[in-house]
Amino acid sequence: MILVCNWLWQRIDPGSFQAPGAVSRFALAVGFRSVIVTSLAAFASLPLLYGLHILALPLAQMAKLIVAFSWLFAGILSGALAYVAGHVIRDLDCSRAEFQRLSQTDSLTGLANRRAFNDALVTVDGDASLAIIDIDRFKRINDRFGHQAGDEVIRAIAVVLARVFGDMPLVARLGGEEFGVILNGGEVDQRLAMLDQARQAVAAGASVFDDKDLAVTVSIGVADFIPGRRVEGVYAAADRALYLAKDCGRDRVIHERNLPCVEIPVLDASEPSRIYGVSMSRG
Ligand code: GH3
Ligand code: MG
Ligand code: MG
Repeated sequence: MILVCNWLWQRIDPGSFQAPGAVSRFALAVGFRSVIVTSLAAFASLPLLYGLHILALPLAQMAKLIVAFSWLFAGILSGALAYVAGHVIRDLDCSRAEFQRLSQTDSLTGLANRRAFNDALVTVDGDASLAIIDIDRFKRINDRFGHQAGDEVIRAIAVVLARVFGDMPLVARLGGEEFGVILNGGEVDQRLAMLDQARQAVAAGASVFDDKDLAVTVSIGVADFIPGRRVEGVYAAADRALYLAKDCGRDRVIHERNLPCVEIPVLDASEPSRIYGVSMSRG
């Protein structure tokens, strides 16, 4: 019995129940195997029952009865039960997959959420950078246009980020008006250029409000994953770089190598690129 249960349990692979007809195939397989198992068990017990003279019918008739009953009861009954159980398992598996998806998704933007981001951070392996992107003076937008307009801005920026960083391992909304991106591939300077491209794309699409004081811009802090460096350290450095970007006037990308602020040179105001920390020698 334990062997039969183990065997049935091994057959229940929830992933395989998603395919069309998988539940029916499972029910047929369980029914058929149940027939074989019960027939074998009954035939194996026949000599003993015969030897003890407790068979109610002649041996040949008992054999026919065993075959008929194993099909009728073991086969059909277990097949039907397996069919019902298969549907229940499939529904549970669908719910689990949906729950899993929702638990990793930000409901406002459809991007990954902080939980997914934290999960991804600990799996980063090798050369990569972490960027924290924060909308500038977002409270003013809420105050002047209302929370719903603020939500629209968050959604619009999420679309820009998803477009620019679609190929990156992860783009997430970390909460409020803050986003996170894990970037890999290429040199650090190339990643910074990509982040600045996103910054410019946000600034360019910001004229949703007919108010010159309310340009929608973002500030970005960046830090690198280095072998042996803890995730907390990378996050803290990116956060410090972000604060520095805010302190230095917002609407810019600052890499951790440019901490502290006093070392940042003043760039030409007509220059569209605002990356601080790219190939610049300190001091
Ligand atoms: P800074 O440039 O220094 O980042 O200024 P800020 O105004 O963007 O930053 P602050 O942290 O003072 O304000 C963030 C505001 O974001 C406060 C909060 O009410 C608002 N906020 C947080 N989550 C949401 C959200 O989901 N939707 C909307 N509309 N507003 C949100
Ligand atoms: Mg902000
Ligand atoms: Mg913020």
